[in-house]
Amino acid sequence: MIVALAGGVGGAKLADGLYRVLPPRQLTVIVNTADDFDIFGLRVCPDADTVTYTLAGVANPATGWGIADDTFETLRMLGRYGRDVWFQIGDRDFATHIARTERLRSGASLTAVTAELVTALGVTADILPMCDEPVATQVMTPSGPLEFQEYFVHRHQSDTVTGIIFRGIDQARPTGAALGALREATAVIFCPSNPVVSVGPILAVPGLRERVARHPGPRVAVSPIVGGRALRGPADRMLESLGHEVSAYGVAALYRGLVDGMVIDEIDASLAPRIEALGMKVLIAPTVMTDSNDRSSLATRVLEFCERIGQAR
Ligand code: GDP
Ligand code: CA
Repeated sequence: MIVALAGGVGGAKLADGLYRVLPPRQLTVIVNTADDFDIFGLRVCPDADTVTYTLAGVANPATGWGIADDTFETLRMLGRYGRDVWFQIGDRDFATHIARTERLRSGASLTAVTAELVTALGVTADILPMCDEPVATQVMTPSGPLEFQEYFVHRHQSDTVTGIIFRGIDQARPTGAALGALREATAVIFCPSNPVVSVGPILAVPGLRERVARHPGPRVAVSPIVGGRALRGPADRMLESLGHEVSAYGVAALYRGLVDGMVIDEIDASLAPRIEALGMKVLIAPTVMTDSNDRSSLATRVLEFCERIGQAR
């Protein structure tokens, strides 16, 4: 079993590569749920859905999130009713949130409901929420605290982030499913997700960081920072405003003690000695995934890297 830790769009790309190259049922993705929120009375889980839609082959290729060829009639009508419609939810996507919310209200856990949705879409990987309790990322900015989607979607990540809070994280517990997957994991792979607000919350679930830190098998991270920049989203600006180096080295430093190996892009080859000085092995590879071949090739390289690290132990 391979366990991957993932946020949304960046994480889903490598998860998809792993899904394509691994034998059936050998992949478990633990996803960030600190982006989850309620809107129109529905529970929305952006990162879990992005990973699920991507593995199911129904993701919108233009955005990386949402469903391909979705229509937006429901949202348009909500707009006519005067509702705020800055969070884009397509008609088919709405169905996911309706089905999820209905099951959650009947008392099912987020883990169970997510598994039902994943199975219904024909995905044969396990996609596990990092915890079943609600956790909500808040970002501190010069204009005050903002709910994550307010910052990310409504205000287009334009605010300077001076701090991060994962509200509810103290009450969160690692799920039996996540601990079970980690027990069976031959390797743990940190997808190229935002280290602060995607992988950060997963590791902040009490006990999970420690569990990964003492994982006996190889643990490898792929840098989401390429050439000193995030390929999309605010990861680079967040690292900078929170006082971290904006580079693959900066990401490696954040994962110190948690990973044995770091996968960095060819463009960042010169950072290898500094990352090795952190006590990590380095794999230099093309890490920008523009199509499904790129995803599979990178996944294959990452798995080989894990194997090499495992053998060297
Ligand atoms: P979000 O939840 O949708 O913001 O997605 P993630 O946190 O999973 O991923 C965001 C990160 O993915 C950004 O920092 C991007 O730089 C990174 N990213 C996106 N595509 C790629 C890619 O093809 N290769 C690498 N190495 N990183 C990527
Ligand atoms: Ca996200």
